[in-house]
Amino acid sequence: MRPLVAGNWKMNGSRAMAASLVAEIRTLAAAGPASVDLLVCPPFPYIPEVGGGLAGSAIALGGQDCHMAAAGAHTGDVSAAMLADLGCSHVILGHSERRADHGESSLLVAAKAKAAIDAGLTAIVCVGETEAERDAGKAENIVEKQIIESVPAGANSSNLVIAYEPVWAIGTGRTPSVADVAAMHRHIRSLVADRGPVRVLYGGSVKPANAAELMAVAEVNGALVGGASLKAADFMAIAAGAAVSA
Ligand code: PEP
Repeated sequence: MRPLVAGNWKMNGSRAMAASLVAEIRTLAAAGPASVDLLVCPPFPYIPEVGGGLAGSAIALGGQDCHMAAAGAHTGDVSAAMLADLGCSHVILGHSERRADHGESSLLVAAKAKAAIDAGLTAIVCVGETEAERDAGKAENIVEKQIIESVPAGANSSNLVIAYEPVWAIGTGRTPSVADVAAMHRHIRSLVADRGPVRVLYGGSVKPANAAELMAVAEVNGALVGGASLKAADFMAIAAGAAVSA
């Protein structure tokens, strides 16, 4: 399956930084691996700037969240149709930071994913266990529940990506063992088997130094990258790591 390497810029940067980062990524991507799909997900206000910088390139644009409703009285929120209107093809949903900071439940994530799919976007649904849950031997059960509750009816391999992101690996520099990643991805794949060949990304402290090893794991179809996506050279080095296993 063709890997997808997605950059989650989170709430970082400025308009100027977004413009220069996307220009650098574009330059490096022109000489980078053709066998990997690339996606960048800037903060909402910078989506037009970044979209302009990507015009005519094969690099996709995405949002970091959307509302479950199509439109209406939801102050401060952004609809999936608005993202599509700005040229986005993807939206990250149910990231652990949103589940923690905004109390998002899996059922809400499913409603958002349905709204995204209805607007023509691909929903990147994030799941992952906490450290305490892994230590208690509950990681697979927790992720299974999240998948069952967060993936809506109608989602399939053309409009759904799953990102397995252990909460304890995000931004910490720690990663699960290759064996643990392989086991979880196999489990996730079995849970979404009836949706077709859904891409299952790994996320959590993916860096240039560990990308090739993680991306070589069977059933890992790319990466969702946080911190390292803010440096064009690192982001593209991760893409190169994913290309090795493509
Ligand atoms: C993320 O937040 O999606 C993520 C994977 O972050 P980091 O790469 O910084 O761990």
